[in-house]
Amino acid sequence: MPILTITELHEKLKAGTVTCVQMVEHYLSRIKAQNESLNAFITISEEYAYEKAKAYDRIIADNPNAFSEFPLIGVVVSIKDLYLTRGIRTTAASNVLSDFIPQYSATVVQRLEHAGAIVIGKTNCDAWAHGASGENSDFGASRNPWNTEYVPGGSSSGSAIAVASDMSLVAMGTDTGGSIRQPASFTNLVGLKPTYGAVPRYGVIAMASSLDSMGHFTHTVEDSETLFSVTRGIDERDSTVKNVTYEPFDTSKTIKIGIPKEYFSEGLDPEVEKVVRAAAEVFKKMGIELVDISLPHTKYAISVYYIVQPAEVSSNLGRYDGVRYGNGRECFGAEAKRRIMLGTYVLSSGYYDAYYGKAMKVRSRIITDFKEAFSSVDAILAPVSPTTAFKLGQKANDPLQMYLADIYTVAANLAGIPGLAIPGGFASNGLPIGFQLLGNHFSESILFELGKRYQKVTDWHTKQPK
Ligand code: GLN
Repeated sequence: MPILTITELHEKLKAGTVTCVQMVEHYLSRIKAQNESLNAFITISEEYAYEKAKAYDRIIADNPNAFSEFPLIGVVVSIKDLYLTRGIRTTAASNVLSDFIPQYSATVVQRLEHAGAIVIGKTNCDAWAHGASGENSDFGASRNPWNTEYVPGGSSSGSAIAVASDMSLVAMGTDTGGSIRQPASFTNLVGLKPTYGAVPRYGVIAMASSLDSMGHFTHTVEDSETLFSVTRGIDERDSTVKNVTYEPFDTSKTIKIGIPKEYFSEGLDPEVEKVVRAAAEVFKKMGIELVDISLPHTKYAISVYYIVQPAEVSSNLGRYDGVRYGNGRECFGAEAKRRIMLGTYVLSSGYYDAYYGKAMKVRSRIITDFKEAFSSVDAILAPVSPTTAFKLGQKANDPLQMYLADIYTVAANLAGIPGLAIPGGFASNGLPIGFQLLGNHFSESILFELGKRYQKVTDWHTKQPK
């Protein structure tokens, strides 16, 4: 069966050429054939998925409004193991929570299920979402389906693999410093990091609370927009979510895309640069104006992120004391311990002003850079990662090298703006390369509009790993 989009699935369900149960069978057979080598799933919810699929098949047969009442009916989704799923084990890929069964589901999971989606399993990731390769998981590293000697990216490694290898139609991830956009770019997928405050974080194990964004992986921008319309919106349990009405994008307007010179700096692989510049040309051919811009504080983004983020991590991981739930603190892996120590250090008396306080000041400058840029352009085009996927083991023992891989993604999280990664081509070694569009707060509709136009005239997103 070719990979389907949500619209194509719904056409087939309406025509009766497939059923929800058959879709679950299809994805489970793909999981059974591939999971041993790719290690994308920690838990597979087979029985649960069949139960839901049977119920939805009945709804489709009985309810003439099934497809409008359930916009995701029959859509099989895999969920990063950071989202709480009621009754289904949730581990954060850490031995601390190796046998934790939640009492309730995250708001996003509830919204997906109310819309008719079928949860097929919980995906592997870097433990607590700390990482950029998937190698920090206590359940073993995952592999890139395009070449199994390479990492799939991280931290949402398993979710990216699940969609890229057709083990589910879509998948949920989390992006605190690039963990959706970077694995999307490494596996030829569309990855959305929404605006901070667009999608509720309630019920998702926190990494760094001022940076965490709940987003997803799809093959097409159109599907990304559909999932966003289901998951976004106010939630009485997350007070940072804003009540925003998304106006449809005014297509008669001339659009300007900014090209930030700081994102084409030393260290950017020439093959990646070529893909990003080619994407800019595609937009130019459509009549979109390209404008050279500058985001002068970009060079501080990594330093600021690796102070603010561990500070918040050290505070959030304090609750795992082995008393209320989970196993003891001795179960934390090396990377979590490193971040707890870094965070505690930058927050400690005598160092707070020099590190955390200073970092927060520079964070404001980074926000101002984007504000100024968006007063003259509608979106920004940039690389996602300075290189294509790297080999398993290449950076695993060198945390600094691993941190530097986040250079082009963390600024969006520090500023709280949305980012959409889109497949843009391949390197000579056959590995995928994505680019990202960044937008002003709550401007997802512009990113979707641009992404849809791009995918109409290119076919990179239709390529699949063998
Ligand atoms: N690679 C980044 C880190 O290790 C991003 C993680 C994330 O977005 N969850 O902090």
